[in-house]
Amino acid sequence: MTNNFDYDVLVIGAGPGGYHAAIRASQLGLKTACVERGAVGGVCLNIGCIPTKALLHAAETMQASKHAAEFGLTFSGQALDIARLNGWKDSIVKKLTGGVSGLFKANKVTLLTGQASFVDDHTVQVGDKTYTAANIIIATGSDPAKLPGLEVDQQQIVDSTGALVMPDPVPARMLCVGGGVIGFEFAQVYNNLGSQVKIIEFLPSVIPGADADAVKEFSKIMSRQGIEIVTQMKANRAEKKSDGVHVELENVKTGEKTTEVFDRVLVAVGRRPRTDGLNPEQAGVTVTERGFIPADKQQRTNVPHIFSIGDVAGNPMLAHKAMKEGLVAAEVIAGKPAEQDAVAIPGVVYTNPELAWVGLTEAEAQEKGYEVKTGVFPMSASGRAMTLQATEGFVKMVVEKDTDLLLGVHIVAPHASDMLAEAGLALEMAATATDISLTIHAHPTLGESILEAAEASHKQAIHIV
Ligand code: FAD
Repeated sequence: MTNNFDYDVLVIGAGPGGYHAAIRASQLGLKTACVERGAVGGVCLNIGCIPTKALLHAAETMQASKHAAEFGLTFSGQALDIARLNGWKDSIVKKLTGGVSGLFKANKVTLLTGQASFVDDHTVQVGDKTYTAANIIIATGSDPAKLPGLEVDQQQIVDSTGALVMPDPVPARMLCVGGGVIGFEFAQVYNNLGSQVKIIEFLPSVIPGADADAVKEFSKIMSRQGIEIVTQMKANRAEKKSDGVHVELENVKTGEKTTEVFDRVLVAVGRRPRTDGLNPEQAGVTVTERGFIPADKQQRTNVPHIFSIGDVAGNPMLAHKAMKEGLVAAEVIAGKPAEQDAVAIPGVVYTNPELAWVGLTEAEAQEKGYEVKTGVFPMSASGRAMTLQATEGFVKMVVEKDTDLLLGVHIVAPHASDMLAEAGLALEMAATATDISLTIHAHPTLGESILEAAEASHKQAIHIV
C-alpha cells in the first residue's frame, strides 16, 4: 500500500473484532500487525462466550442425566469433580486461543505483544518500541461495569471473570445482580450444579431488548427450574462476614430494604468500553462521554484512517457484531465497497432452553408504525422436540400484515441459536413469511417450528389448532 509506514494496517486488540480485522486485512494483501496486551482471543475466547458455553454444557449434562430416568436410563450416582470441570473448560479456551495464534502465523499477521498507546495519528507505542501505520483499527473491547457498594474480590463477590472459576464446593446460595444475558447464563450454570440462585434486576423486566412474550415464557421456564427472579430490585451494598456476604437489597418501587446472605455474589450489570492507556486523544480520535469510540458505517472514526470496531465502538456488545465490523474495516482499508449494513444482529441467551431473537420485537415493530401480525408455534407441538425432551417454549414470528414481510423472529427452545440462522438469512434477503412456509424443512427437526410459525402467521399451521 505505502512504503512510508511500518505497516499498512495496525490493529489494536486481538479479540474477535481485532483478529478478524487483522486476518482479513492480510488476506487482502495488506501488511498487517496486531497488538495484544493480554491473551489472544480477547474476552470472547478467554473469559466470555466460550468458557461460559463450556460450563453451561457441563452443568446442563448433569440435569439431562437426571431427566433420562423418564425413558428408563438411571445412573447409580453422580459426582462432580470441580477441578476437572474447570480444567476441561480451560482446555477448550487454550485450544481456541492457540488456534488464533496459528491463524495469525498462517496469514502472516505479525503479533506484537504489549500495551498499545497512541503517539500520534499514525504512530503507536508498544512497550519501548514505536510503530507507524497507514491505517489503525481500534479493537480494545470492554470491561465489566462496576457497582458502587459491591467491591469485586473474585472470590465471594465476583464479576463474570471470577464467576467462570467454579469454587469447590459449589456455593449453596448465589445472588446474580443483573438480569441480562450474562446474569442468566451464570444463574443456570450455578443452579444446575446445585446452588440456590436468585437473580435481581433493577428494571421492570429481565433481558432488556428481547420480545416481551418471549421473555415472559423464558422467565417462567427459568423459575420452574428453580431460579428465583425478582425485578425492580437493586443491591445497595455488600458486607463480607463469617457466615457469607450480607447484601442490602432495595425494592425500587417501595424503597423497602432487606438484607440477605449469600455465599457468592455475581455483579453482572453491563459492560463499559475499554480505552485505558490507549491515549486516543493523542491521535485526535473522539471518545464519547461514556467512553465509546464511535464509528460510521465503514467503521471510520472522526479521523478517517483510524477505525473503531467491536465493543469499544458501541452496542450491542456481541462477538459476532465485532467480527463483522472487523471484516468491514479491513475491506474498506483495502478499497472494497464494504459497510456495516446488517438488517439485524441476533441476540442469544445460551441457557437451556435458549432465548434467541433477530429483528424487531412486536412492540418495536408497532412503534415503527408497522401493522403487525404474528405466528406462534409452541415447541410442545413439535415431534422432534418431544424426542429431545424439549417441549418448553415457542417460536414467535413478527410479520407485516399487508406485505407479509418478515420483521422479527423470537425463539425460546433448545438450540434456538442454531435455528435462528435461517431467520437471520430470511431477514437479510427481505423474505416474506410465505417464502419460509414454501421452503421444505427436513422432518423431524426443531427448525420445522420456524416453518410452522410462518404458517401460523397465515392461520394455517398444520400442527396447531
Ligand atoms: P475484546 O474481546 O474485549 O478484545 C479486546 C482485546 O484488546 C483484549 O484482548 C484486550 O486485552 C486488548 N486490548 C485492550 N486495550 C489494549 C491496548 N491498549 N493495547 C493492546 N491490547 C489491548 N458475545 C457473543 O456474541 N456471544 C456470547 O455468547 C457471549 N458471551 C459472553 C459471555 C461473557 C461472560 C462475557 C463477559 C461476554 C460475552 N460476550 C458474548 C461478549 C463478547 O465477549 C464481546 O462482545 C467480544 O469479546 C467483543 O470483542 P472485541 O474484539 O470488541 O473486544
